[in-house]
Amino acid sequence: MRKINPEEYQKRLDKISELFAGMVTHADELSMKRCPYKNRFDQCTAQFGCRNKRKPLAPGQLPVCANDDKLDYRKAWQTA
Ligand code: SF4
Repeated sequence: MRKINPEEYQKRLDKISELFAGMVTHADELSMKRCPYKNRFDQCTAQFGCRNKRKPLAPGQLPVCANDDKLDYRKAWQTA
């Protein structure tokens, strides 16, 4: 069995940590812009009012989400 070189091991660990840190930062930024109720078809799954909701494209479908994912979506929610 090959011995582990501690320096090489640490270098790889640092590289993996750097990669994951970048992914987490991107996910954090995206989560502040893309509404969690918006599905992959850009439809709204929320059961409450929102100014970004538009009529479904076809009967029986979910409403369309008109949010462009550039602004904070939470300001459009009608919670009261
Ligand atoms: S319509 Fe409003 S609640 Fe629904 S997915 Fe879009 S931003 Fe979210």
